[in-house]
Amino acid sequence: MESQAPTQVLNFQPLRSRVDGEFWSALRAHKLHYAMLSTSRLDIRGHYQCTRPRVRAMLSTAGGDDSRPSVTPQSWFAVDAQPESFNPSASSMGSPPLLGFVPITGHLLNTNTIEEFKQLNRRQLLAEAGQRVHCAIITGQATSDPALLHYFVLLSFGDLKKYRFFYQVGFPALASDPPDRYECYRGTCMPLLTDVYSPVLAAQIIQECCSYIAAVGPAKGCAFALQCREGSFRTLSLSEWESLCTTITTEAEAKAAVVDDGGGEGDPPTIVFIDSSTSDTMPGWTLRNVLAWARCQPCTPKRIRVLCFRDWHGVVPSEDVIAGSIHSRMLVVHVTPAASTQATGPDQLTVVGWDRGGKAKHGINVADLSSTMDPYKVAETSLDLNLKLMRWRVAPDVQLERIAATKCLLLGAGTLGCYVARTLLGWGIRHVTFVDGGKVTFSNPPRQPLFEFDDCLDGGRPKAECAAEKLRRIFPGVTSRGYNLSIPMPGHPMPPSEVDKVRETVTQLDALVAEHDAVFLLTDSRESRWLPTLLGTKHRKRVLCAALGFESFVAMRHGVLPPASSTSEATGVQRLGCYFCNDVVAPQDSLSDRTLDQQCTVTRPGVAPVAAALAVELLVSWVQSPEGLYTAADNGGDDTSREFGSLGRPPHQIRGYLSDFGQHKITGQAYDLCTACSPIILNSYEQDGFDFLQRVFDNMFVPDGDNIDGDQGKQQQLPLSPPPGYNYLESLTGLAKLHQDADALLDDMSIDDEDDTFEDDF
Ligand SMILES: [Zn+2]
Repeated sequence: MESQAPTQVLNFQPLRSRVDGEFWSALRAHKLHYAMLSTSRLDIRGHYQCTRPRVRAMLSTAGGDDSRPSVTPQSWFAVDAQPESFNPSASSMGSPPLLGFVPITGHLLNTNTIEEFKQLNRRQLLAEAGQRVHCAIITGQATSDPALLHYFVLLSFGDLKKYRFFYQVGFPALASDPPDRYECYRGTCMPLLTDVYSPVLAAQIIQECCSYIAAVGPAKGCAFALQCREGSFRTLSLSEWESLCTTITTEAEAKAAVVDDGGGEGDPPTIVFIDSSTSDTMPGWTLRNVLAWARCQPCTPKRIRVLCFRDWHGVVPSEDVIAGSIHSRMLVVHVTPAASTQATGPDQLTVVGWDRGGKAKHGINVADLSSTMDPYKVAETSLDLNLKLMRWRVAPDVQLERIAATKCLLLGAGTLGCYVARTLLGWGIRHVTFVDGGKVTFSNPPRQPLFEFDDCLDGGRPKAECAAEKLRRIFPGVTSRGYNLSIPMPGHPMPPSEVDKVRETVTQLDALVAEHDAVFLLTDSRESRWLPTLLGTKHRKRVLCAALGFESFVAMRHGVLPPASSTSEATGVQRLGCYFCNDVVAPQDSLSDRTLDQQCTVTRPGVAPVAAALAVELLVSWVQSPEGLYTAADNGGDDTSREFGSLGRPPHQIRGYLSDFGQHKITGQAYDLCTACSPIILNSYEQDGFDFLQRVFDNMFVPDGDNIDGDQGKQQQLPLSPPPGYNYLESLTGLAKLHQDADALLDDMSIDDEDDTFEDDF
């Protein structure tokens, strides 16, 4: 009764894997942001399709190896980039499966080192994945959801610095023992559907199948049954396989009873699977698990027909479109029965399926993205790499995004400005603006790392613009501008012709301070820091100041004015002082303080980089402080700064001395008579605006009761070369009065103590 047709061992065209650059970029980002050192399995998705030349060309644009598909027709499997699985915060909607593609789920194992990658137990990993498919078959889950018949495993190691990814893909297939065989059918091994049926009937079958796949989706529609009865065709789900087989057997027996023609020779039941193969003699790899499923169904006869369905392109075509271009083929398979479906444990399973088609040995592929990536993008992500690595072990709570988003205004593009800018870049800060009124001179390049010899030629380029351009050249991802502005200074009167220009400069500076988050005072004189201090206080910005002496420096942050009122109650913390508060609070230190900046160009060359770096680090600790703008100072002593966060509590001031290589943390509160940040100064600017500034720049003498009385005495107290702005600002704040009182007290003491040891102290 049974056909004794000669049979041959059935071979399958392997799936060749390709993973496109987008996937690796997504994985790289995931590794840096979320996974870090974790090597947990990640659920991912890939797809295969009915590969045809037209479609292959599309696939080959996905990056990776472009030559293979066109040289050797292969069935391809590609791994999709899935932002939702790589980024927990992204929408979980997921991208819809691509048209005409059959999605397969799988998982990724990404190791931390190449050694781990090499040592992965591939046999075991594939066996586990095969066991998963096997379970789906014997529990009946795969019968209701044939998508479970297919799975894949992706192993990878990414060299994140070099953008190189090593990977291997496995498609677990349950092999039969002995192998399944197939017989020649209607004269050929694997005839085209049109050789089996008339073109009209063949087109009808294709349309039926396409409709079925469209209805249930390509994942579930990857395998189903087909009933062929007296010239009409009907698709059935795998759940209906048993009734289909029973019907056919019954009909065959009935037919055999009526017509004695050897019976049972009719068409066996037909399974359809979406075939990725491009071969005329081999079905695709995914048929293996479909046959494994059929083998485990007790109803399955020894002979079944398989329709290798190669005409699924995502839409249901019209009949005239189908006619003349049908690629699907028919196959009659002699299924090897499963010895005992229930008893087959993992140990008895033979699972095969590592893709051996890679370029490197043993099927290991290498994806080198560095050559295909936009170098600008590489620069961007490489900069982030080192920063993100901080979070892996050393400083998990660093808020790099907040730091990177800080817009910085650098007043002064000299030695300090250059070093501050470079250190800011190192922290990933993308917005750096320079203000400087000078030009690059021949003495600059050796000490100022943004400038070169050529910048000094023809009178020198404007420093601010030049520095901004150099910064962009170093890192194109930075937004950097330069403003050629001279900062107006107290005690530097303007000629009437300059007034409008200075007014415009002040307006510009005010706007610049307002639109940045942090302001660095990096100019080379004390008085040029006055207006920026005032503006920074007014706009409640983070103001950082670095100043140099011959072998000493100070790096400090200014206190921020409390929000609504000028009291410190709002913040619960006493406001820290500004650069100018300091001189007044500790008059006895004023001599050494003043030398810091007054001799600024005469410094040991190492002082500026140290001070600049500390100023930036102060900002970074401050920006990431949980206490925000009003972060209290770390005074040293019983230091709990580590508990405060990975980057510590920022001090108020750091003073360093190269004379003995010492460094001290100092805290000074805001002084209510400060000539730059006190309420009276802020109010005067608020009320009179530029007119007030003009009085300061001109050092206008405003006689009032106190001043007239004390004028004589005050003139005598002035140093030989008084700091500009001394008179007007000190009169305004009341400092002058204070000085007079102090001087008077000192005079009294001198007289009283003349006979004592007082003089020895000088
Ligand atoms: Zn102050």
